[in-house]
Amino acid sequence: MEKIKITIDNTEVEVSKGATIYHAAKQIGIDIPVLCYLNLEHLNIENRPGGCRICVVEVEGRRNLAPSCSTECTPGMVVHTHNLRVMNARKTVLELILSDHPKECLVCSSSGQCDLQKLSQMMGIREIHAVENAEMSTYRKDFSPALRRDMDKCIMCRRCETICNDVQTVGALSAVNRGFMSVVAPAFEQDLVDSPCTFCGQCVAVCPTGALTPFDDTAKVIRALSDPSKTVIVQTAPAVRAALGEEFGLEPGTLVTGKMVAALRSLGFDKVFDTDFAADLTIMEEGTELLDRIGRYLSGEKDVKLPILTSCCPAWVNFFEEYYPDMLDIPSTARSPQQMFGAIAKNYYADLLKVKREDLVVVSVMPCLAKKYECQREEFSTNGNRDVDFSISTRELASLIKSCNINFDSLTEEEFDQPLGESTGAAVIFGATGGVIEAAVRTAYELFTGKKLEKIDFKELRGLDGIRMATVDFNGTPIHIGIAHQLGNARKLLDGIRSGMYNFHAIEIMACPGGCIGGAGQPLHHGHSDIIKARFDAIYREDSQKKIRKSHENPFIIKLYEEFLGHPLSEKSHHLLHTHYFDKHKK
Ligand code: SF4
Repeated sequence: MEKIKITIDNTEVEVSKGATIYHAAKQIGIDIPVLCYLNLEHLNIENRPGGCRICVVEVEGRRNLAPSCSTECTPGMVVHTHNLRVMNARKTVLELILSDHPKECLVCSSSGQCDLQKLSQMMGIREIHAVENAEMSTYRKDFSPALRRDMDKCIMCRRCETICNDVQTVGALSAVNRGFMSVVAPAFEQDLVDSPCTFCGQCVAVCPTGALTPFDDTAKVIRALSDPSKTVIVQTAPAVRAALGEEFGLEPGTLVTGKMVAALRSLGFDKVFDTDFAADLTIMEEGTELLDRIGRYLSGEKDVKLPILTSCCPAWVNFFEEYYPDMLDIPSTARSPQQMFGAIAKNYYADLLKVKREDLVVVSVMPCLAKKYECQREEFSTNGNRDVDFSISTRELASLIKSCNINFDSLTEEEFDQPLGESTGAAVIFGATGGVIEAAVRTAYELFTGKKLEKIDFKELRGLDGIRMATVDFNGTPIHIGIAHQLGNARKLLDGIRSGMYNFHAIEIMACPGGCIGGAGQPLHHGHSDIIKARFDAIYREDSQKKIRKSHENPFIIKLYEEFLGHPLSEKSHHLLHTHYFDKHKK
């Protein structure tokens, strides 16, 4: 790669041709402030519209200041990143943005995590000089079951648009209108619920202000916890334990399973259970479905639907319902672990407790915003009573713990309650891309071959590449597997299947970067691949430390089938643990 030399703040730096001033400055330790810029380094995608003008610098010989995030270095360039002219320009730009922004910092749900707020503090903005009494533009607010849009707070950075279109290929958001009226919105300024939005929430995770925020049911959870007539139980998804600690200053990848359980008990939950239990159950149902389809295919049945697609990610389910309605019969019909847990809690555990289903409140703690929508899908309710009443995110749990003055760091580790708290290593790895299919393979291999697995780790299925393919040997029968995380990659795999280019037996898809560990409800990672990697390693560490690592060996799962469900794919299992899909494209 050709190299060029430039000078930044009196320091000479050698950079590759094509590098921006922003990157060149970073190379010598100068952090130019940014607002609209976002580097999704794990994808090699940069959002750098150069629109906000916060990152302007002075380039000698040019009349106008230049946005450093989108200006390429040229040989001999001399740059000043913080002289008086630059500092004044940045302040003026920021004041102009603030002049058209609601002053709601005290009550905004993004307060404390908002880049605009942080920038105002960093630049010492204490008053807005130029346009103090200017009338603000006002826009309609939009409430969906998973996320909220308050476009009064949109600063047109277009990060959400990049994620929604370039990364996820969902195409729900794009810029509309011109000038002061320009805003990012669904086409025809529809509400999100009427758009192709999958509720993956990745737009929320990159929004630098409070324009896109999660739908938050924490207040309802607190109300239920204070109601003596209710029994309130909680389930925690596998990815939560690998990231919750970050909200309390711990290093990414610190496992806080025991402290999380202790905190939930301190909050007043009657029982603290594990979604991992339901993940083991998912493997029993989904793995049996996989074996059934493979068995029929191998015995020559012509109309067997392969590949089987995993169905535990609700954003992915929304995506294929919208974009692949012709393929609705290939995903597994198994419900997600969140919903399997809810169905077992309300139809089995409530009876054990002798509690009416209406008086049993099931709360989930998820890394995910789409789960908020999933638990509101009509098919997961009985007479209007949901199987999972409320879903809160990892970040929302952290703020609940903080608001109740619980000192997370000093908590003594505790164990999950039984019976719905027992789980295997196979269930834990659901939190990372490739984990669901590895868990399914651990069980399917033993059931298919009748032999004990000699090597439990299927390292060929692991990794953080966006699309991965592997063949697993089932004692002489090759099983071809595809894995994708993030919906843009899922689209490539699905298009390949549609066109006949790929020939897989099974495919796992997760909507978020790295799988659920990078979910939009997790502590914000803004695309830092080292954070995702640390969480990924933590998940596999927890798996390796588990006494039981295969779902079909979970003693409470075995008992549940003996006492209640009968066997995988039984009529009762079908009724409680499986679902059906809809053609949303027609909408
Ligand atoms: Fe939710 Fe996980 Fe799917 Fe992301 S990958 S949308 S966190 S289920």
